[in-house]
Amino acid sequence: MARIDASLTELELKREEQLASLRDARGDLVAIAYQESVARILAEIREARRRLREGKHGVCVACHGMVSEERMEALPWATQCADCARRHSSWLR
Ligand SMILES: [Zn+2]
Repeated sequence: MARIDASLTELELKREEQLASLRDARGDLVAIAYQESVARILAEIREARRRLREGKHGVCVACHGMVSEERMEALPWATQCADCARRHSSWLR
């Protein structure tokens, strides 16, 4: 659990740096789109850390089942199990 928290903290810092470096790119549409996607991931990482503090990390928000360890390793901010993410992939995109 502490390891996940540490890796989420690291991810959050990395994304924040990325976002800061993109802030100067005014008018550059590619940079703006990239900035938006980084901001979205950052929000997901923060949500994951909040869920971790509440003891809900690794529990699927859709079916309340456990998210597999492999998935949490690959996507530490995942809020859904692989099945639900696939089912809802249309609105996750
Ligand atoms: Zn699920």
